[in-house]
Amino acid sequence: MKRVGAHVSAAGGVDKAPLNAQAINAKAFALFTKNQRRWQAKPLSEDAIAAFKKNLREVEILPDYVLPHDSYLINLGHPGPDELQKSRGAFLDELQRCEQLGLKLLNFHPGAHLGKISERESLNRIADSINWALDQTSQVTAVIENTAGQGTTLGHQFEHLAHIIERVGDKERVGVCLDTCHTFAAGYDLSTEEACEKTFLEFEQIVGFKWLRGMHLNDSKSDLGSRVDRHDSLGKGKLGWNVFHYIMNDDRFEDMPLILETTDSALWPEEIHQLYELIK
Ligand SMILES: [Zn+2]
Ligand SMILES: [Zn+2]
Repeated sequence: MKRVGAHVSAAGGVDKAPLNAQAINAKAFALFTKNQRRWQAKPLSEDAIAAFKKNLREVEILPDYVLPHDSYLINLGHPGPDELQKSRGAFLDELQRCEQLGLKLLNFHPGAHLGKISERESLNRIADSINWALDQTSQVTAVIENTAGQGTTLGHQFEHLAHIIERVGDKERVGVCLDTCHTFAAGYDLSTEEACEKTFLEFEQIVGFKWLRGMHLNDSKSDLGSRVDRHDSLGKGKLGWNVFHYIMNDDRFEDMPLILETTDSALWPEEIHQLYELIK
């Protein structure tokens, strides 16, 4: 079964997220478990944790279909030792918050070398950061998101994802999430059925579908290979509907969170409906 949802608001508390997902008829959702633009956050209270779990049960969405996203400030491949340690601490806190909520996945952007160390060295640091954090937790899988490759960010080539996975010790708790906008902006065409066939074959050969834990479904305002990360509403950008038709009719995307991060949240109920209508 296809599990389509969106990155919903957790304003007013994490327990609001499942209700916001239900309100748009979602069968999966993403959320931030803290303010994504701040380093510090209050620990989750026992009440907030209990309310989240209760609401999740009530809306009948399994933890397997919840894909939390970590803070945008975290850079697990940072060249500076102090900044790297700060990022690692914040990443561990994000994993622990997910564990407290009974969740199984944490989606994050790998990091950026900032022009100060080589790509390879930064990728190695990212893997070391993941290992360090996984060693101190037991339930949550680290889900690496591919990126558009804006600036010095890593993760825009499938080889980067493969390199990180290769160096992670606990293979049970590492996976990837592909964002359709990022994939396209990074230079992998997804605008036609043939292009999807070719790009996903490349993904299978370099990374492997066995690592895929979720998808972000976004159209792209920016061009193929532009390395500019600008999401658009479905069908309104440079991607068009073909890739979404492809995903909704391909078994390799079954039973995992398929998350909209499209720009106009007012369209989410309609976009979710439209995606299910694409199934032949
Ligand atoms: Zn992301
Ligand atoms: Zn994304």
